[in-house]
Amino acid sequence: MSTSTRIMWFRQDLRVGDNPALRAAAMAGKVIPLFIQEDEDAGDLALGGASKVWLHHALCSLNQSLDGHLLVRAGPALPILEELIEATNAEGVYWNRCYEPWRMARDTEIKAVLKARGTHCESHNGNLLWEPWEVNKKDGTPYHVYTKFYRRGCLEAHAPRSPLPKPEELTFACEKQEASAIDELKLLPRRDWGETIGKSWEISEDGAHKRLSDFLEEGLHGYKDDRNYPRKPNVSRLSPYLHFGQISPHQVWAAVHHHDIDRDADHFLSELGWREFSYNLLYNNPDLPSTNLQKKFDAFPWREDQTALKAWKKGLTGFPVVDAGMRELWQTGYMHNRLRMVVGSFLVKNLMLDWRLGERHFWNCLFDADLANNSAGWQWIAGCGADAAPYFRIFNPILQGEKFDPDGTYTRHYVPELAHMPDKFLFRPWEAPELVLKEAGVTLGETYPKPIVDVKASRERALEAFKSLSEGT
Ligand code: FAD
Repeated sequence: MSTSTRIMWFRQDLRVGDNPALRAAAMAGKVIPLFIQEDEDAGDLALGGASKVWLHHALCSLNQSLDGHLLVRAGPALPILEELIEATNAEGVYWNRCYEPWRMARDTEIKAVLKARGTHCESHNGNLLWEPWEVNKKDGTPYHVYTKFYRRGCLEAHAPRSPLPKPEELTFACEKQEASAIDELKLLPRRDWGETIGKSWEISEDGAHKRLSDFLEEGLHGYKDDRNYPRKPNVSRLSPYLHFGQISPHQVWAAVHHHDIDRDADHFLSELGWREFSYNLLYNNPDLPSTNLQKKFDAFPWREDQTALKAWKKGLTGFPVVDAGMRELWQTGYMHNRLRMVVGSFLVKNLMLDWRLGERHFWNCLFDADLANNSAGWQWIAGCGADAAPYFRIFNPILQGEKFDPDGTYTRHYVPELAHMPDKFLFRPWEAPELVLKEAGVTLGETYPKPIVDVKASRERALEAFKSLSEGT
């Protein structure tokens, strides 16, 4: 093996297995594993609070896998890389590609500068099953309809590659690092919120694989139907691991293919397809996080209402299933997909508040906050995205609770002040007779809020606003 020095720049690929850039660096020479905390380059898109908590633990775990050799730095990436190359005589820099527009532009610049000074640069695909520039319609334009994108554009093009093994030999060109270096990034918040939300997760590469195998054993069977019920074990909860690259989509894809591809497995794989679709959308529409894909929504008369926004964020809207979803987010850093749709619809339709406010809140609170998935998800629920839920499809926050949390276990868990409400009134406590409320220990407006909007009137208000767009008034 060559004795030359290679920098492996870890970003959203915090793993040793199936890591094409790490493998290539290890084959080319001795490795300096590097992570740069990039908030300065990211500007407005700096990591949210929950993401920072996850990142802290993910870095500690990666450092262990690298036998304590992970170098961490904070600041703009280019000068940090230049300094390290200078100090170590490194001959090459290796990374797996990221797809956020600011990162793509930044990486292009870094590649040009480093190449000009004679440093070898190599980027690999470690994060997507299909590169976004590979999947286009026959006429070369991007897909706007998900099913065609996935079934025709992706599946018919080629199967995803198989996962790569860990590097056979990994020799380091740097000393072991001080364990406290990661603490110095100050990713953990001062409040104990960080500890609380991290409690139910094993934030490591091994934790990701354990999650996957538990899901394949206990959750895949029945996925297609039961993924809609937040108390059932039928979703994988792999999203933060996928976002930070503690597991690759190729590893997940291959593991599912070891099972029969029945309707459940096919549906699960198609959700990974939604992830690919979001990245494709972001690649082709770099302003996806801030600009309506459907331009007619630029004239939408969003309301301003700080009190309602605050109630939504705190899970105090008076709609139990909405409040349960918002509190799950705050307490665990995760929210079940059904709830993301319910609380999202409630914000943009019943409250008529701009989807970008919800997107920003999710960005701060989700462990899996992901620029592509989050912006595509919000545009989808607001009706202004590609292949989006039509604006007039408004989730009824009472019926959604009754249908998808039929025995109320999920809602009672996150809204314990309603724990003793009978099923009949759990999702509509304002309709309960005084005696029922009294027996359940609930005083509306005191122990639990009165609803902040009228469902029917707010639905009609939203539809009127939408109609004004359609009519161009
Ligand atoms: P599973 O059902 O087990 O699915 C497996 C994987 O497929 C997920 O981990 C995820 O990577 C991918 N996936 C599933 N559903 C979607 C989807 N609709 N769009 C894109 N990828 C999907 N997902 C994020 O990863 N980060 C976000 O910031 C994010 N924000 C969202 C915001 C809104 C308003 C909405 C409606 C959805 C958002 N999603 C986001 C998509 C989806 O809700 C989550 O990916 C999913 O709930 C994660 O849970 P899971 O891993 O158990 O999913």
